[in-house]
Amino acid sequence: MRIHAVQTGRVRIKQAQIEGRGHGLLRQLRPILSPDWADWTPVYAFAIEHPDGVIVVDTGAATHLKSLPRWHPYFQLSVRFDIEPEQEVGPQLRTLGIGARDVKTVVLTHLHIDHDGGLAHFPFSRIVADKDEIARTAGIAGAMQGYLPKRWPRWFDPEPIAWQPTQCGPFARSAAITDAADVIAVPTPGHTASHLSVVVRDGDRLVLLAGDASYLEATMLRGAVDGVSPDAAQACRTLADIRALCAQQPTV
Ligand SMILES: [Zn+2]
Repeated sequence: MRIHAVQTGRVRIKQAQIEGRGHGLLRQLRPILSPDWADWTPVYAFAIEHPDGVIVVDTGAATHLKSLPRWHPYFQLSVRFDIEPEQEVGPQLRTLGIGARDVKTVVLTHLHIDHDGGLAHFPFSRIVADKDEIARTAGIAGAMQGYLPKRWPRWFDPEPIAWQPTQCGPFARSAAITDAADVIAVPTPGHTASHLSVVVRDGDRLVLLAGDASYLEATMLRGAVDGVSPDAAQACRTLADIRALCAQQPTV
């Protein structure tokens, strides 16, 4: 299986988002209040060339993110996007020889704006996401958590992921994305309450496409939670699960 990491522009966030500082509400306010920006960071979408058809994991950023709601403190004070139209996931996949109709399935790790930004490029695909994550995007509460469902394509009607009580490494539940169960969703709650990751069985190694479960290898290894996770303890448990998976099998 070939896996392409497609960089869809860059994002700049605060240091206090990459690694949370303090506890409770203060940890979650620091990404807004802190003056310390991190360096520009790549925003990735992933395309898995699978015998059943291409599977895209997350759709990356899009040019519409260069303009964000003015009333919103996080969007105005804590995040900047740098992306041009040809850097969106659709044009880049076409350069790789992958057209929209070649993409059988799109899996969304979560519905933050830099993960669902490129949805418009996939009108012909089955799109799957966690049902609680979808529900959480609604209204002002959804916007405050970093979701902008009004920017989804009109046709967007994701299929809820069908979790099964099937163990996958340290994860108690999983959902096979392919018939061969060589691409599997696993729950990695933390960064959002229903965040998921995708395990790809590639020969004798695993590739874990972990969305925003952690921004950096270093913070994951230390179990350092980011500045936006709603439940720090849950995020910490997920980082431990990921480390346990890596300890069980060679994992990229
Ligand atoms: Zn996110």
